[in-house]
Amino acid sequence: MKNISSIQSATSQPKDLAALQQAYRSWSNTSDPFSRLTRRLATTLSLETQLGILAEELGNIIPFDSLTYRHQIGHRDFVYATGIGGPHRCEYRLNLEGVCYGTLSVNRRQKFSDDELQGIEMIISAAVCSLRNACQFITIEQAALTDALTSIPNKRALDEQLQRACSLADRHAGEYSLILCDLDHFKSVNDQQGHVVGDHMLRLAASTLEAAIRNSDSVYRFGGEEFAILLPHTGELEARDVADRVRNAIADLRVDCGGTELSVTISCGVTRYMPGESADQWIARADEALYRAKEQGRNCTRVFATIG
Ligand code: GH3
Ligand code: MG
Ligand code: MG
Repeated sequence: MKNISSIQSATSQPKDLAALQQAYRSWSNTSDPFSRLTRRLATTLSLETQLGILAEELGNIIPFDSLTYRHQIGHRDFVYATGIGGPHRCEYRLNLEGVCYGTLSVNRRQKFSDDELQGIEMIISAAVCSLRNACQFITIEQAALTDALTSIPNKRALDEQLQRACSLADRHAGEYSLILCDLDHFKSVNDQQGHVVGDHMLRLAASTLEAAIRNSDSVYRFGGEEFAILLPHTGELEARDVADRVRNAIADLRVDCGGTELSVTISCGVTRYMPGESADQWIARADEALYRAKEQGRNCTRVFATIG
């Protein structure tokens, strides 16, 4: 790929360059609201930032009291709101090539005139391609951080959150704990019941873990039949209780396999974050605790104790 300077030296004559510079200056300083809006929107793929730009540029032309955007992207509800109230509302579904990219509503105390409504529609039309790109970017980001089989966050998402947890814990001296869970003798489930049943068990295990934890905790698919639970503001003894709770929830599961009832257990390794250590060191201690749980009979929790 050519870089910018090599393209310039290959194609620009001095006369063309002057015209180009003039065009560039007027493009960058234009008072044409559509050029300014689209130029600003093109600087970011963040949907939130784009909506902030849209609200600002729209408000410069057609004053309003509040603007709200809503969209369900993947499994998440995205809501952006700025300003307060206004009983008169105009609302638009942002459709492009048959796909809806959210709903935008603009509210105001005074009624919108027909000219203003047309103006709003034109401004939204100029923004909709950028908003579509930002929505698609979120979808791709979500996919990159989600496990395809279980639909819970994947190892990459865990790595990001562990890094964040390490720096937050170091900065604010907060407590974080990590639980690693591994399904016991899961190979024999696959061997005896087949992979379809095995996959079903993994999905069920993931949703059971999610249902058994608090809102502030998060569960990840760590690997094949391994899951990780990250617990903010939690010491290792409290984390052990959580591990035992999720372990019991998994042990209570029953899957009907054509007459026979299948159940499964997990082993858990628990440890808290130690100030100054890396995410890898933290995981290694949780893994060591999990190894002991396996060694000492499975369907149990072991803590890599760091206290006292
Ligand atoms: P242990 O109690 O020591 O953990 O025994 P185990 O059989 O669970 O452990 P092992 O590491 O021997 O086997 C893990 C099994 O998990 C083997 C593999 O087929 C299964 N597994 C891993 N990922 C998936 C998956 O995505 N779907 C299915 N169905 N099985 C999987
Ligand atoms: Mg394993
Ligand atoms: Mg296993």
